[in-house]
Amino acid sequence: ANLVAIVGRPNVGKSTLFNRLTKTRRAIVSDEAGTTRDRQYGKCEWNGREFSVVDTGGWVVNSDDVFEEEIRKQVIIATEEADLVLFLVDVATGLTDWDEDVALILRRSNLPVVLVANKTDNNYQHYAAAEFYKLGLGDPVCISSATGSGTGDLLDIVVDTLSFDKTDEIEEGIPRFAVVGRPNAGKSSIINAFIGEDRNIVTEIAGTTRDSIYTRYDKFGFDFYLVDTAGIRRKNKVTEDLEFYSVMRSIRSIESSDVCILMIDATRGIEAQDMNIFQLIQKNNKSLVVVVNKWDLVADKTQKVIDTFENAIRNRMAPFTDFPIVFASALTKQRIFKVLETAKDVYLSRKAKIGTSKLNEVMLPLIEAYPPPSIKGKYIKIKYCTQLPNTQIPSFVFYANLPQYIKEPYRRFLENKIRDNWKLTGSPINIFIRQK
Ligand code: GDP
Repeated sequence: ANLVAIVGRPNVGKSTLFNRLTKTRRAIVSDEAGTTRDRQYGKCEWNGREFSVVDTGGWVVNSDDVFEEEIRKQVIIATEEADLVLFLVDVATGLTDWDEDVALILRRSNLPVVLVANKTDNNYQHYAAAEFYKLGLGDPVCISSATGSGTGDLLDIVVDTLSFDKTDEIEEGIPRFAVVGRPNAGKSSIINAFIGEDRNIVTEIAGTTRDSIYTRYDKFGFDFYLVDTAGIRRKNKVTEDLEFYSVMRSIRSIESSDVCILMIDATRGIEAQDMNIFQLIQKNNKSLVVVVNKWDLVADKTQKVIDTFENAIRNRMAPFTDFPIVFASALTKQRIFKVLETAKDVYLSRKAKIGTSKLNEVMLPLIEAYPPPSIKGKYIKIKYCTQLPNTQIPSFVFYANLPQYIKEPYRRFLENKIRDNWKLTGSPINIFIRQK
């Protein structure tokens, strides 16, 4: 999993470049429009290679008002977490002190940096871009993110610089769990609780320094990998509180896993940072187990309090609400085993295959009883359904005479009926409607 961070001053054109790089992907994946995370994190595909892109500016709510110092901190985080940095400078404005400052941070980071001169719309500006050589980061790549000129060459450079050697050593078919959550939720504590109980670690495979680490466990009677990003236990006091930090920390773990164990601090409840991580999990089609940690600190553990917690969490995460919630304590180790067992169950349901005849036997009468609403006097009929083989998440195809007229609410109805009848808790589901 490769991660590319775009850094630069406000208004140099980071989000325009980000949109351009992630556009192709967006056309394929149907994102709920208007969510802020779409401006921050996306995938880019070029020549058959895929990598993730983060726009560091996407985290600055009102970039004009924010002190450049804040952005400087985000650059530092980016250099710790990313595989490559696109340093965007603005030919129209020219070289600034701040650019030189950031160049220094980037040069010290030993990270591949591509210097990108944006707003290069004409020949004159190409000559002007030469002054950025002074930053000591090599030849500026001239682009215009507004028109897209130069972005193909830029992508060639990015793809050539990143290494795409796969983690072949990771055995297929073994669940991969990632522990994610905001700082101080108890991630390190629970990982230590897993490891500490008994040290049955089979192998620890490290890829490149920035890559994910897969620790294989064969305990509790089943086999799994715990996915960790290199140095997840390392802490950086300066930047730890920033939301951007916890998101950057989470991306790679989430991408490398099947099931995410999302740690929530019972003493704080769900906050914006938790939601951001939750959305990253959703965007990557990963399965989810929510752990309400520090349960030992909650004095009043009545059913009513438990229900209130559960409802609050599910309401925040709606419309996806079909996931398990485990109340645990990494400190006292209460229900630590339950967390892993639940993650395993979720993994198994993610991989479950429902037989076609059974599926039709249950679904067709339901569809008969509640058919899709007819549109413009046309009857919409679903004749048959099946689960697609070898998909990342459970995916179902419904064959209809007029697929274009079947809308989101009906799709959700189909999804809910599948969830009612088969246990797919914790996993997202794809519903496709195709021409019969
Ligand atoms: P991380 O930043 O998510 O890795 O969080 P840590 O594992 O470092 O935990 C942050 C703080 O919360 C530490 O002081 C832990 O001792 C404490 N902590 C973690 N889990 C629990 C828990 O279940 N109960 C209590 N009381 N404290 C916990």
